[in-house]
Amino acid sequence: MARWAYVNGRYLPHPQARVHIEDRGFQFADGVYEVVGVVEGRMVDREGHIARLLRSLGELRMAMPVTLAVLDLIMRELIRRNGVRNGHIYLQITRGVAPRDFKFPKNARPTLVMTTRDVGKFATPAQLENGVSVITIPDIRWLRRDIKSVALLPNVLGKQQAVEAGAFEAWQVDGDGMVNEGCSSNAWIVTADGTLVTRQTDHLILAGITRASMLTLAESAGIKVEIRRFSVAEAYAAREAFLSSATTFAMPITRIDGRAIGDGKPGPVARRLRSAYFEVVCGQPS
Ligand code: PMP
Repeated sequence: MARWAYVNGRYLPHPQARVHIEDRGFQFADGVYEVVGVVEGRMVDREGHIARLLRSLGELRMAMPVTLAVLDLIMRELIRRNGVRNGHIYLQITRGVAPRDFKFPKNARPTLVMTTRDVGKFATPAQLENGVSVITIPDIRWLRRDIKSVALLPNVLGKQQAVEAGAFEAWQVDGDGMVNEGCSSNAWIVTADGTLVTRQTDHLILAGITRASMLTLAESAGIKVEIRRFSVAEAYAAREAFLSSATTFAMPITRIDGRAIGDGKPGPVARRLRSAYFEVVCGQPS
């Protein structure tokens, strides 16, 4: 099946989809993005992702190039054209094309691009059976990580470090030894007494849309939740650990820096939240 991309008002064959070399996204990473999961052809948690997109744009004083109704139509059309069943849609908005100059351009039109990806399966049987491993690394990012900006170099380096260490993700840790979040996911633990812990959202982490849904699911399941920072030491001693994102959902973690977490197997809370997310949020059997 031909693969299509969307670029500023046009659907183009993916190999021909391009933006100008003076796009500010290319030159300054002056842009924002969103990744919305697609499960059985339907977007998941769409409203939350669009709300966060509008917030990111607002924080950077960037304009939304189309109405929300049109944005929704384009997203649905691209998913339809590409026949996406299980995967995601990526959308990016930059401040547009202008001669290279740091200050905001006067008359640039924002660039809007979208692509999709079909992943087939969201996780391998081995990942679900055995869990994944993470390493911890220093968080070297800027201080506005709540903005979903395309400036992702520290995340790129962190993820590469993880892969080279044979791990799935790297947890970025602050100067006090507290876990902020992964390079592309939020971080969770379950303490020895069964309390689910994830960090509060502020300027220092991204407010994950999957995180917010998981918190609602945890509350309705009667799981005790604490929204607070947790240290690497606390994570080593946790009963369970997992990560969350729009493309991984709740993914169990069974090793942190090479140490087994809990009994070294995916824990019941991560499993329960993963299936609840599929059933309640995606409307699909897990
Ligand atoms: N933190 C970071 C740094 C991320 O890149 C992501 C993925 N977008 C997340 C958390 C998870 O957010 P979401 O659940 O909205 O995908």
